[in-house]
Amino acid sequence: MSISKTFTFTVSIAAMIFMSCADTANAQTASADFRKVVEKRLLDKQQKLENICPVDTNIVARRVFKDYGAMFIAVDDVKYPSKCVFATEDEVLSFQSGVRSKTAVINNVSVTLQEESFNALEKARAEAIKAGLNITPRGGSASKRSFADTARIWNSRFEPGLKHWIAQKRISAADAEKARRMDIIDQVAQVMEWEKDRLWFSTRFNYSIFSSVAAPGTSQHLSMIALDVTQFADKRVRAILNKHGWFQTIIDDTPHFTYLGRKEKDLPKYGLRPETKDGFTFWIPNFDR
Ligand SMILES: [Zn+2]
Repeated sequence: MSISKTFTFTVSIAAMIFMSCADTANAQTASADFRKVVEKRLLDKQQKLENICPVDTNIVARRVFKDYGAMFIAVDDVKYPSKCVFATEDEVLSFQSGVRSKTAVINNVSVTLQEESFNALEKARAEAIKAGLNITPRGGSASKRSFADTARIWNSRFEPGLKHWIAQKRISAADAEKARRMDIIDQVAQVMEWEKDRLWFSTRFNYSIFSSVAAPGTSQHLSMIALDVTQFADKRVRAILNKHGWFQTIIDDTPHFTYLGRKEKDLPKYGLRPETKDGFTFWIPNFDR
């Protein structure tokens, strides 16, 4: 190798190292601090995070903010929940009755969403259908849900989980009974404790319960900006939904899309970071504490 060739070679290696360092630095600094973004948005409306989602004092609220918090950075036309953990059906009803919504039957399923998210869905559906694809609701309660719906879905994992771990002799019958009688917020905290010991409560007892259901009163579906989509596995469908502001924002809940109304390239600015898993990109809050 001549001196000039060696020099060129060294320079290009140095350039490659420099570029890869720069990329890493970009990846680390690209997403804003999610909590700060949300706090600033709330402050602009004379509201405080601790009144809506007490992340510093309540373990369930912290979990909800981390797992489902993306809804707090949706465009201004969308109303975020007045509480991240609704305690009763009345609280849910009072929030839901205060938002503008639209309803239509899609593929024999009634879909109700906040107006902005519904309009964006209609545009995405039109584009999908034009491309020979489709976007339809997955299951009977794919959009708006009530507090009772979230409690029923939670119990559909909680009860089989208890039975499974009692049979495995990892949870005693007495502890299970105690958990059943707890206030919901304490019950959720108890499940989180068990899952710390890898006693999972998902359908097959191999994932966290939160990968497929929300704690009662905490689902994005209560806020009417979430839709479970049948065609979630088709990346062309995901691209169309993304283009119209709908994103996957909950790790492992692949059919679940949240309306944020933002451009994908802007999401890091609002404190979301991309996490890629099994070919899916989830946009999740950059919040770890
Ligand atoms: Zn969902």
